[in-house]
Amino acid sequence: MIDDKVKIRCPYCTRIFRDRASRLRPDYQINCSDCNRLITFSSDTEDPHLRRALKTAREIRMVCEMEFQRARAAAMN
Ligand SMILES: [Zn+2]
Repeated sequence: MIDDKVKIRCPYCTRIFRDRASRLRPDYQINCSDCNRLITFSSDTEDPHLRRALKTAREIRMVCEMEFQRARAAAMN
């Protein structure tokens, strides 16, 4: 199985926590598990850590989609 968890660095308290790549899209919002402040993943964010988290999530979703297609193709044979 693919690890679909993406590391998120809170811009307020700099703690790192993880969330699923399938949820982490532009305009996604989550409360920091530590300081409980709302983090918004806008695609034009200035925060390089949030930008990287969005990019990583997109890459993981692509890999998951490829795996899904391959599994489906294998099941048909
Ligand atoms: Zn925080």
